[in-house]
Amino acid sequence: MKRHSVKSIYPCTLLAAFALCLLIAGIRGCAISREQQHAPVTSPDIAVFSDGEVLVMSLNEYLIGVVGGEMPASFPLEALKAQAVAARTYAVRRMACYGGKGCGKDGADICTDSSCCQAYTAPEELRANWGDNARRYMDKLTEAVYSTEGEVILYNDSPIEALYHSSAGGRTEDAQNVFSSALPYLVGVESPGEEGSKYHGEKQYTPREFAAAVNKKWPKAKLDRKKLSSQVEILSRYDSGQVETLRLNKITVSGKEMRKLLNLNSANFTIDISDTVLIRTVGYGHGVGLSQYGARAMALGGADYREILTHYYTGVEIDKMDQPPCSMAAQ
Ligand SMILES: [Zn+2]
Repeated sequence: MKRHSVKSIYPCTLLAAFALCLLIAGIRGCAISREQQHAPVTSPDIAVFSDGEVLVMSLNEYLIGVVGGEMPASFPLEALKAQAVAARTYAVRRMACYGGKGCGKDGADICTDSSCCQAYTAPEELRANWGDNARRYMDKLTEAVYSTEGEVILYNDSPIEALYHSSAGGRTEDAQNVFSSALPYLVGVESPGEEGSKYHGEKQYTPREFAAAVNKKWPKAKLDRKKLSSQVEILSRYDSGQVETLRLNKITVSGKEMRKLLNLNSANFTIDISDTVLIRTVGYGHGVGLSQYGARAMALGGADYREILTHYYTGVEIDKMDQPPCSMAAQ
């Protein structure tokens, strides 16, 4: 049997010690990089106008309130993540921190009025609304925001105008048909499986009420409540199904104007005139960009948030945004 001499064991021990050092360093290194990955991440501050005052909070904190205010927390996690990234992108474009111009209310970056910016619900209010599900839902929202930390939707390397709505009625709408200006990433796409809350809507008027509302807004229409069936006619629709134009006796108005006048759920509507004027709508909201119920359907079908976002926003990329040039608030 060959015996190791002291001379031959010594280098072996040295080698072993060196290897052990490398191993320990490697493990420590991994631990450090893992720590860095999960270290408290910084998030810029956002100034939010709400109920007459400007609240300053971290962007992540704000986004949890937006996702909770804009989308049911019962929706699948991937849909909530898509909503978080869309809401972050929407906010970033308005934040002074990133060169945005705010929303014009008291110098704030953004406000909590959904008809102007995005809805926001404070965490305590969300918890109260959720009752027994409060802890589970807050965990879901927190995960949706933090697991997508810093990610925004980019077109030509710039954050997009990330518009979204509840449901499109089967197909989303081109931006120019709703907001006058075209955007290459806001074009109509199929949006199946949206059926859910508020998908079908209905409003009923007496002929007198309907004629009075229209004539008050557009006196030149001169609608006669007894002749509505011959005076009211939908003339054209967009590919989405939204009404492009309709005739109201002597005038022609857009579906969008009619939606606004009667506060309809969407501009995708039919009008049935008999003893009453019955208006039925499909979809809820302006129909441009991400459909929330469409995102839910995609997530239930196995899509992840990136697939959802790149379906609804054409030709975009999802990537981390650059660190903002302004002050950061530690989480
Ligand atoms: Zn606003």
